[in-house]
Amino acid sequence: MSAPFDVAIIGAGPAGMAAAVTARKHGLSCVVFDEARKPGGQIYRAVTERPEQDRREILGPDYYAGRELAEAYQRSGSEHRGGTMVWSLAEGEIRWRSREGGGVTLARRIVAATGAMERSFPVRGWTLPGVMTAGAAQILLKSAGLVEDDLVFIGCGPLLYLVAAQYCRAGRPPRLVVDTAPRKNLMAALPHLPRALLAAAYLSKGLGLIRELWAAGVRVERGVEQVEIEGEDAVRGVKWFSGGRWQRTDASRLALHQGIVPNVNLAMALRCRHVWEERQRCWRPVLDDWGRSSQPWLWIAGDEAGIAGAASARLSGTLAALDIARDLGAIGETERDKASSPVRAALRRDRAIRPFLETLYRPADAFIVPHADDVVVCRCEEVTRGEIAQVVKEGAAGPNQAKGFLRCGMGPCQGRLCGHTITETMSALSGRSPAEIGYFRLRMPIKPVTVGEIAGTPAPDALQA
Ligand SMILES: Cc1cc2nc3c(=O)[nH]c(=O)nc-3n(C[C@H](O)[C@H](O)[C@H](O)COP(=O)(O)OP(=O)(O)OC[C@H]3O[C@@H](n4cnc5c(N)ncnc54)[C@H](O)[C@@H]3O)c2cc1C
Repeated sequence: MSAPFDVAIIGAGPAGMAAAVTARKHGLSCVVFDEARKPGGQIYRAVTERPEQDRREILGPDYYAGRELAEAYQRSGSEHRGGTMVWSLAEGEIRWRSREGGGVTLARRIVAATGAMERSFPVRGWTLPGVMTAGAAQILLKSAGLVEDDLVFIGCGPLLYLVAAQYCRAGRPPRLVVDTAPRKNLMAALPHLPRALLAAAYLSKGLGLIRELWAAGVRVERGVEQVEIEGEDAVRGVKWFSGGRWQRTDASRLALHQGIVPNVNLAMALRCRHVWEERQRCWRPVLDDWGRSSQPWLWIAGDEAGIAGAASARLSGTLAALDIARDLGAIGETERDKASSPVRAALRRDRAIRPFLETLYRPADAFIVPHADDVVVCRCEEVTRGEIAQVVKEGAAGPNQAKGFLRCGMGPCQGRLCGHTITETMSALSGRSPAEIGYFRLRMPIKPVTVGEIAGTPAPDALQA
């Protein structure tokens, strides 16, 4: 068994890459796992693979800004394990699988930087073929240069507008954008505007996206209060309710988006303490100022720690690595604090936009909690809102009881897609807060593996020996 790494990092997005660069700078040995073959994470997906000019016009300067970090990461001397999915974690050990096989890697400290996921959008018809998420449309564009013709974008949040604008730049303007952000959000967000001006670049980028759609002649329907997707075996059209009336259009391809939430499966399965974040409508881990979790050997950085965007992800990864360097004795407390001070200042400036953005794009209840009993909530096990309502009526206290009755959260996605929807639906049906309702009690493995793979990796005792 080879010697343990000083640090293992799960996720090679901005947070994981920055953590690795900092750890290496302080002389720590470092291994990084990512399901994707190349570093970059969600925002900088495939950034090291494209020639500089290839899609610059389409993906924009924010995307290519990631190349400098990715190259610094590639030069850092970290061991990159691309195409490698981590399925289990415990103190000192990481269990993983790649196309070539599986194994266990030992590490003294671990950084989880597994990022965010798009929130489910459980309206009638959301599971029909022809429906994808806006993030999935963007993954096709970034990794394969593929775009859909005549796409209809529906939902709320900056990513929806970014992908719609990228489609315009790619010469495939969306047919329609159906914006579900509640009108009242704008008034609620206004008190946060003065602070948001500290990060004014984000505001001008956002306005720029809206201008691009306008210049491309894209129709945008705002203030939409309800959405229904039509079709039997595939999407045939979409209906929306706004301004007191229903409208509809034929459509065969839809891109849905209702914001993003931290990817909590790993930290939840480790029993790290989490809290319900009301403004972002999601769970997030409880961390100290350096990102250290309630498991003292685990730091959490980037969007997994709470949604804050790529720049903050990078800064939080740096802070986590500095603290690990201090924890392992590579640097002293004074050196750590000195190095962290400009990082913290940049983090404060960058996060100044968050209260404004989070209030402006807080999703409406109508798109978080399904309206009708026939709407699917857990798509792996095909559990509907009506079935959830029935078990709540029979006294199910939270997601774990619902899981026992209905198997919701027990399919291949292991609750990643339905977890937040189940919490919010049970909360709405019972009148108790999401914090009281709680979340699934998750266990390793956090990703689907075969029994043979579990049996084939050594037990912890053998590793210690
Ligand atoms: C689909 C999608 C698209 C987005 N696009 C943009 C965009 O264009 N612009 C923008 O500003 N923001 C975008 N975001 C927001 C984005 O998440 C953050 O701004 C930023 O990428 C967060 O960085 P991070 O390092 O925390 O996580 P990420 O960049 O998400 O990186 C996390 C990495 O962890 C890996 N990972 C997760 N679980 C495991 C596991 N079990 N084993 C191994 N590897 C694992 C993932 O493959 C991923 O590469 C997007 C978010 C999503 C969900």
